[in-house]
Amino acid sequence: MGRFFRFVASLLFLPFALAITTSAETKLQAKSAILFIADGMGLAMITAARIYDRGVSGQLHIDLFPKTAIVKTHSSDNIVTDSGAAATAIATGVKTNNNVIGEDKTAIFKRRHGKRLTTIVDLAVKAGKSVGLVTTRRVTNTTPAAFYSHHHNKFAELAIAGQFVDDELRPHVLLGGGRRFWLPSKGGRNLLQELKVKGYTYVDSKKDLEKVKSKNTEKLIGLFSMDDMSYELDRNSVDSTQPTLAEMTSTAIEVLGKNPSGYFLMVEGGRIDQAAHNNDVLRTITDILAFDEAVGVAMKAVDVKQTLLLMTSDHETGGFTVSGSAPVDTKGKALLGKSPMGRIKGYPMVNWASGPGRQRRPVGKIKSQEHLSHSLIPSRLSEHTAVDVILAGMGPGSQKVHGFLDNTEIFTIIKAALNI
Ligand SMILES: [Zn+2]
Repeated sequence: MGRFFRFVASLLFLPFALAITTSAETKLQAKSAILFIADGMGLAMITAARIYDRGVSGQLHIDLFPKTAIVKTHSSDNIVTDSGAAATAIATGVKTNNNVIGEDKTAIFKRRHGKRLTTIVDLAVKAGKSVGLVTTRRVTNTTPAAFYSHHHNKFAELAIAGQFVDDELRPHVLLGGGRRFWLPSKGGRNLLQELKVKGYTYVDSKKDLEKVKSKNTEKLIGLFSMDDMSYELDRNSVDSTQPTLAEMTSTAIEVLGKNPSGYFLMVEGGRIDQAAHNNDVLRTITDILAFDEAVGVAMKAVDVKQTLLLMTSDHETGGFTVSGSAPVDTKGKALLGKSPMGRIKGYPMVNWASGPGRQRRPVGKIKSQEHLSHSLIPSRLSEHTAVDVILAGMGPGSQKVHGFLDNTEIFTIIKAALNI
């Protein structure tokens, strides 16, 4: 009788239990999360990269995200954010002033520390998850730094590297450039040695990264250049020892993915911003394509039922636009050259609001490999712009990726999905 009663009761409870499990596992709760940040990438750049590489009707990996939202990016003290305030908003859910990382708006750039903010990395490590940060810039540069360090001056990279080593809640995987801040300096610390003592494996080349046995590796630091890593376009010609962003992403997922409690990984296409500051159309586009490749690698490698994937940008750089008139089958050729028809025939199809390359006249004869762009306001480097950026998502917890959001809500979405 008792057994029969328990059996009937369990049948009654079953659909309810299943409903809870289904909604928890396939909808709101994620075991792991990967956040892709394309530094400085605006929507027009995505359009250009797609047309350049795949044609107007082709698809990038980032085109496959089913959920999208528009994201506002201003900082506490500026209409136009820098990467420090933007990365802090994304990493901590709190707006701060430009050039500050991991501290609130009571911080004054280069003068006074503000309140130290809790990052998504702190929460994930405390919850027993593994954490990784991957970038093509220096690992102490602004975007990754905002996820693990706290400073009123984003340029204090030696101190930022020291904070990484000293913080007990530090990420388990750190891959990118900027070796010079980790080498022993005169009278200073030997940070790499200190990390080795704390159990980190150190690699400094593509070959060594390939040799990492992810099954036996819990903590990994890879520094593949003294400064920023190469632009994708120059990677093989300048330094063939550097891995691609996709290769670093793949290894990071393998190392972090072993944790039964899940992981959080941030992957930055960091040099898109720098190429755009130089109004360098080709390097902007090819670094976006390398970023897109990393997104593709992750989409294939993870269990999408358990992993929240997000892709966003911290701000747009340069005021990049594509205009003019060209037949669809001209693909990238027209983008890197002059508009072959229409009202601005003879002018470049890609133009910028500011930066190098101010021209008033149509373009004359162009060399075959030359890529062209003009800027409206002459300056050595272009400025960031205030235009909204895109957030795209898939997987559990991505239901909140819709409408107009503030960049601080990206933190909230990840925190809620991981339940940390
Ligand atoms: Zn920038």
